Amino acid sequence: MENKCGMLVVLSAPSGCGKDTVFKELKKIRNDIVESVSATTRKPREGEVNGVNYYFKTNDEFVQMINDGKLLEYARYNNCYYGTPVEGVEKAIADGKICFLIIEVEGAQNIMKMIPDCITIFLSPPSIDELRRRLYKRSTDNDEEIENRIRAAEYEMELSSIYKYNVVNDVLEDCVNTINNILNDELAARNDK
Ligand code: 5GP
Repeated sequence: MENKCGMLVVLSAPSGCGKDTVFKELKKIRNDIVESVSATTRKPREGEVNGVNYYFKTNDEFVQMINDGKLLEYARYNNCYYGTPVEGVEKAIADGKICFLIIEVEGAQNIMKMIPDCITIFLSPPSIDELRRRLYKRSTDNDEEIENRIRAAEYEMELSSIYKYNVVNDVLEDCVNTINNILNDELAARNDK
């Protein structure tokens, strides 16, 4: 389907829920989506590249970005700052792309207030037990961090009802197809206006 207008999609999911994999799979079937690259004060994980996965910043650099108005939204998560640079989003929308902000619930709520017509999708794990299993299997964080992420996940899932769409990531292919259909429906609705 041809996309004639830029569109903003907020995708939230507890950490370990597979949101990056879901986005990667979606990208294989659509050429009109881009992901905003966030800034963060979190340390890079193995294999993460500055400017690709995140813009890795010191605390001072991040605060400077806030003060300079360079962030569309930002939030604290697991004792680190995360924020969406305005510039990348503006460019993506100007290029007529569907721009994905893959962000946690606090930042998502700020975007919902600022941009009420954005598309909001919450991705859930099949269960908290399954999420815990996935986080331990990933083994990128220590036990304390994993338990922090589980607590954050429980809190985030309580807020899932404020999102327009709730999708469970159980079978990856089904999840990707569901989101693809959501995007097509939303594009069709906008192009009809
Ligand atoms: P992680 O450390 O696992 O990469 O990300 C932790 C959480 O921060 C995830 O829920 C992720 O979606 C969220 N996050 C990543 N970038 C941003 C951002 O720019 N703004 C906000 N508010 N959250 C973000």
